[in-house]
Amino acid sequence: MQQDDIRDRIFASTLNKDHIGKNASLVGWLEDFRDMGKIGFVTIRDMTGNFQGVVVGEMLSEFREVQRQSIILVKGTIQETRAENFKVEVKIEKMKILSTAVNPLPIDPTGRVKSLMDKRLDCRALDLRNFRISNIFRIRSSVLSLIRKFLYSKMFIEVNTPKIIGSATEGGADLFDFEYFSKKAYLAQSPQLYKEQLTLGLERVFEISPYFRAEPSHTVRHLSEFISVDLEAAFLDYVDIMDIVQELVISTINDLFVNHNEEIKHFENKPAIMVDTIPRTTYQKCLDDLRGLGEKLEFGDDLSDPALKKLGEIYPKFYFITDWPTKLKPFYILEQENKCELSKSFDLQYGYLEIVSGGTREHDPEKLENKLLEKGLNPKSFSDHLKTFEWGMPPHSGCGLGFDRLMMILTNSSNIREVVLYPRDTDRLTP
Ligand code: ATP
Repeated sequence: MQQDDIRDRIFASTLNKDHIGKNASLVGWLEDFRDMGKIGFVTIRDMTGNFQGVVVGEMLSEFREVQRQSIILVKGTIQETRAENFKVEVKIEKMKILSTAVNPLPIDPTGRVKSLMDKRLDCRALDLRNFRISNIFRIRSSVLSLIRKFLYSKMFIEVNTPKIIGSATEGGADLFDFEYFSKKAYLAQSPQLYKEQLTLGLERVFEISPYFRAEPSHTVRHLSEFISVDLEAAFLDYVDIMDIVQELVISTINDLFVNHNEEIKHFENKPAIMVDTIPRTTYQKCLDDLRGLGEKLEFGDDLSDPALKKLGEIYPKFYFITDWPTKLKPFYILEQENKCELSKSFDLQYGYLEIVSGGTREHDPEKLENKLLEKGLNPKSFSDHLKTFEWGMPPHSGCGLGFDRLMMILTNSSNIREVVLYPRDTDRLTP
């Protein structure tokens, strides 16, 4: 009883009435054992779900020795069950322990005994034995594939740009630096400059990758390492990009709820995030709305955390904010014609949470250089970037979508750490 049986195993979720009367082998971890004296009921879980096993006779004493969460291989006959939660059950005739779990375990992966998030993150691999939690990462994987599918359908190609970079581009005080063969190097905070350059030869690119920010943020929405979905497209402007983002978000959510029902059935925010269209408001309108709520901000002020919280009460779902003041946006964002104090940019918000930031880029090399100077940056540090703008740079636009934040919304999680396997923040560098 070993590898052949494991190879022929039946997965928990596929067990059904057609199997009744057949012999089967199954593997998984022992989640529960209810010992009734003459009969025992075991719950065994694998990656697809759980199944019930029934044990009698000698099998009972064998199961009494097994620590919960140990990995076991069982063989038996599939039979009818009276249990409400299972279609059938397995009358277990043979059992082999493949790996023993210690007792006590540092956390209870069934979730019956609650643990604080920090403790759970310290034991993340075990935490994932909780089906509700591992489901978050199944959804994450599905959403990544849906995003890729959507972007391919819009003629974007996936690219990979360097994460080790040689200069502190974008002016970053937020960069992690380190020694790189006796030179100073940095971890990329975004693919901004590379993805813009790539529109020159590839027109439409996207990248899904980790980025690094050395901001000492202690919030439920910031991490030092996060995944961003970045797009950049030649010949499109920021309104075209907003349209693409709107379609991407709506089609991803719809696809998730229609085709991945099994995974999302535990999450209860479905009605809140299913939308047909995403409303668009302006930065100025937000200031006016906020003024009505007693939050006095002047044109040019950034939307502070308290202001965003209040805005989130007015707009609890997805909404775009457009027409941001130029001075609040990075050097590469283009300003509006005849209204240079306003930029061609947008943010996509979900309540208080910023999900996407995007805009039309400056593609005139001379103007770009002036913008760098205006922002107090040294054009010499950008010479590799600026020279590409002299090779026939197409007008282009793009955006960056915070993937972990999108996952917070899709899984109704209030803390970004819930949707990231091994989060990195100011205090956490392990496991
Ligand atoms: P915020 O103002 O919320 O700190 P930002 O303006 O610095 O965000 P951008 O540099 O525009 O963000 O990055 C694009 C997107 O990446 C953001 O809209 C957000 O969804 C995500 N993002 C940015 N920084 C972080 C972070 N530290 N942790 C998680 N996601 C982030």
